Amino acid sequence: MSEQKTPTDIYEERKRDFTAYLTGDLQTNALDFAEYLLNSGADNYKGVQICWTFIPWNDGLCIFFNGMEKFICDNAYINFPIDESMKEFAWANANVCGKCNTENGCGRGGDRYIFGKKFDDLCYIALSINNPDADTFEKTKKFIDACKICIDTTNNENTRFAIEDAFEKNLSGDRLKNAQKLFAFLKTNDVVPETIDNDCWNYKGNGLFVIHAYGDDDNNWFMYGNLETWEKYPITDGMKEFIWASIRVCTGQCGCPNWPRGGNRMVFGKEFKSVCSSVFFFQNPEGETLENIKKLVLLAKKNIDNL
Ligand SMILES: [Zn+2]
Ligand SMILES: [Zn+2]
Repeated sequence: MSEQKTPTDIYEERKRDFTAYLTGDLQTNALDFAEYLLNSGADNYKGVQICWTFIPWNDGLCIFFNGMEKFICDNAYINFPIDESMKEFAWANANVCGKCNTENGCGRGGDRYIFGKKFDDLCYIALSINNPDADTFEKTKKFIDACKICIDTTNNENTRFAIEDAFEKNLSGDRLKNAQKLFAFLKTNDVVPETIDNDCWNYKGNGLFVIHAYGDDDNNWFMYGNLETWEKYPITDGMKEFIWASIRVCTGQCGCPNWPRGGNRMVFGKEFKSVCSSVFFFQNPEGETLENIKKLVLLAKKNIDNL
């Protein structure tokens, strides 16, 4: 059993290692940076380890942004509240596989996105900074401050999500109550929109549903599942049948890009004809459907937690 290190323990280790392995300006700046990390809480900011220092690495220091993957990569947090200069900083420090390792790369790279920009063979840790000069250290600090703002706006219990306004504005009566009840359930279970103004809901970075409340006084709301996520998990038979019963077939009214005819798809081992792009779909869910959606969510959480 290893004990959890406190930020102070980590700081003391950094001080010792930076003193032992680094020299000159790099040592001076790195020691200053260690102090910044301690004071900024970057090692455990609301449960997120924003970055990690690794030493010795390529005869010096490497800073990996290991905790920020789900925020900055693969378009997940495309509305990340960060200015363009910080995005450019991230792009300039993309950890293309090969740079991650002095030999041939770690073999875990892939084509991925950072803030919407595609990189070929990006390492599994997307951002790394090697032997920064004084200016780069300062920019790194700014970037960490920006990461904290992002974490604040996405993980804060008091965050007001745009979808809550959309519910209030566009729904009324039981439909409004049902949407709000489901929202409360999802939020309690840490299933929240990816950003405050996004409609894709995820748990620990895994997209589960898209939820919309129409903006045209129709008093309608709907949600559809991200089948690619759901298919990753074992699913109980009862829930399989629930999803099968919710498969959406392409019609002229579905408004999906697959019309006039959706593709035939296998969904949990069963083939469906002309399936919409939204695959499984709930319009104005209520009663038993809502209860089953909650069961599905709890099942996904359990699966994701046990990964
Ligand atoms: Zn790599
Ligand atoms: Zn369709």
